[in-house]
Order: sequence, then structure tokens, then C-alpha cells
Amino acid sequence: MVTSTRPTKELAELHFHLGQSVEPHILWSIAHEQGIKLPSKDYWEFFDLVTLNKEKVTWEDYHKLFHLTELIQSSPVSMERTLYEVISGAYRVSNITVLEPSFNPMFRNRGGERDLDQIILAALRGMERALAEFPKVRAGLIVLLDRRLSKEQNAVVVRKAIKYRSRGVVGIDIAGPVADGFRYDDYADLYAEARDAGIKTTVHTGEDGTAEEMDHVLDVLPLDRLNHGFRAYSNPKVMEKVRKKNLTMCLCPTSNLSVGFIKDGGHLKEVIRALYDAGVKFCVNTDNPSMLKTNLTKEIDLLRTHAILTEEEIDQTIRWAFEASFVPTEIGKNLYL
Ligand SMILES: [Zn+2]
Repeated sequence: MVTSTRPTKELAELHFHLGQSVEPHILWSIAHEQGIKLPSKDYWEFFDLVTLNKEKVTWEDYHKLFHLTELIQSSPVSMERTLYEVISGAYRVSNITVLEPSFNPMFRNRGGERDLDQIILAALRGMERALAEFPKVRAGLIVLLDRRLSKEQNAVVVRKAIKYRSRGVVGIDIAGPVADGFRYDDYADLYAEARDAGIKTTVHTGEDGTAEEMDHVLDVLPLDRLNHGFRAYSNPKVMEKVRKKNLTMCLCPTSNLSVGFIKDGGHLKEVIRALYDAGVKFCVNTDNPSMLKTNLTKEIDLLRTHAILTEEEIDQTIRWAFEASFVPTEIGKNLYL
């Protein structure tokens, strides 16, 4: 029997991917609702397929886990329920009142079989259903570009973001493992086009790459925020650049620890203290909460258990998260309702 307790502090979450944010039992139910043939008939075997079961995994293994959840979410019915469940669950479990779920519509259309507009509209419907039930919550969608897709495919995603801006798409982001031929420089024009149309921009950087690569990304892309970016801790010049551009980093401690980019609690402390003490703004996030068996409350608790930040400093990072949100309205007044 699941019991609910009332969480205390209001939180904002700005960096998490929908594919790995749906609780396994809901994903299981969605898959059956749609008649998807799963690799296992047993729930717990399925559970092991969509969650991380080793303390450390390789970067490649980490991305392989995404495939099954993306397949299950590849329909309008599934996307509507996904958004509804994720937004309402985040409010009930962690008192998250501002959230910006991200997903790549190109990985939800079964290789072109489904219509991208229908997928995005279904996601927006699910979001609106949750916001109608929980009026304290504000939310906006971030659509993801991917380093493995062509620039033409990514341009389609950007244009869809612009098309649905007034319905609740608030930002674009680039994610995915590095692929041959991908260059950040090639995306400066698409990022500028999105921004001109009122779409905010963020990017995955300073995660698997280096501080020097991040330095370059900061020079070439017009940005409103950063996803990860923790590699800057080793380079005062890059931290200074982030600070001067007034960018907030959306860090994901458990995600970085699980693939070994951050080695242990001691390393996490070194990273986060360096950023905080250099005046770099950041907030903590979950990245892939159901896959990593985490939630925002647990991520914030890591800062306590490893004695990284004081309570006042933790509160400051929570304020930074609210300030850095792309959702443009005040609490209780969601623009899209
Ligand atoms: Zn991410």
C-alpha cells in the first residue's frame, strides 16, 4: 500500500527527460493499453529493463536504456498520459510547482509513421489536464534536438517548437550521444531563429565533453540556460564566462555519478563547491528520475548527506531554479490555460 505524505518546500525542476520520467508501473500500463509487445510478460523483468540496476554503467549502456521507453511513448495516447502522470506525480511526490519536461518528438513517431504535430499536441493536452487538476503548478515543454539526427531533422523540431509556442512549448535543447558530423557551430542559426520567435534555449554541454568544448559552445550558441555544465568547475575562465552570461546550470548529480563522470561524493562536493564559490548559478535536477530511481527531493538530499551546501545555500539554489524557469507566468496563472 502506497502512503502519501505532504511535502514541504516548493521546488522547480528544469532538466528531466520524459522517456525516463514515467514510473515503470505506469509505463507497463501504457504499453498494455496500446497492445505493444514487450520483451517480457513479467512486470519485474520489465522493471529491470527500464531502470538502472548497476551502480555504474557505461555511457553507451545508459543510452540503450532509452529505446524501450521511447517506443512505448510513440503515440498520441501515450504522450497525453505520460505528461499527465509526470506533472501530477512530481507535484504529489516532491511538491514541484514549476517544471519543464523535455522530449524529442522525432523519437516518438516510429520512424516517421506517426505525425509529429499529433504527438506534440497530445503532450500539450496531457500537460493541460494536469495543470487543470493542480492549479498551483506551472509547466512548459522543452523539445529536444539530438546530436544523432541530421540538421534538417533538427530544424523540423525547432520549427515545431516555434509553431506551438503559444500552446506551451517554451524551449529547445540539444541532447544525445555525440555522433559523427555533429558540430555546435552548425546550430547557431537555428538557435537564433528560435530565440527570435520567443523560444528559450538551453543545451547539454560540459557533461560527457570537456570544459574547453563547453567554452566553445558558450561562444557559438545564443543561450538562456545550460544543462549539466559541471565540467566548468575545473576551468576558472569557463566559470567566469557562465557567470558573465548570467546562465544557470541545471545539474544532475545522480545521473553524472551513475556513468562515472563524477566519481563519488567527494568529487561531487569538489565540483559543486567550486561552482558555488565562483558565483556560478545552478540548481539540481533528476535528468532521468524513474530510470535512476531518484526524485528531486533525493537529489537535493545528496547536497546534505555529502555536506556540500548549507541549508541557506540549498535554498539559494532552489530560488535560482525558479528564477531560471522558461515558463513565463506567475504562480497560479498559467499562460496556457
Ligand atoms: Zn539531460
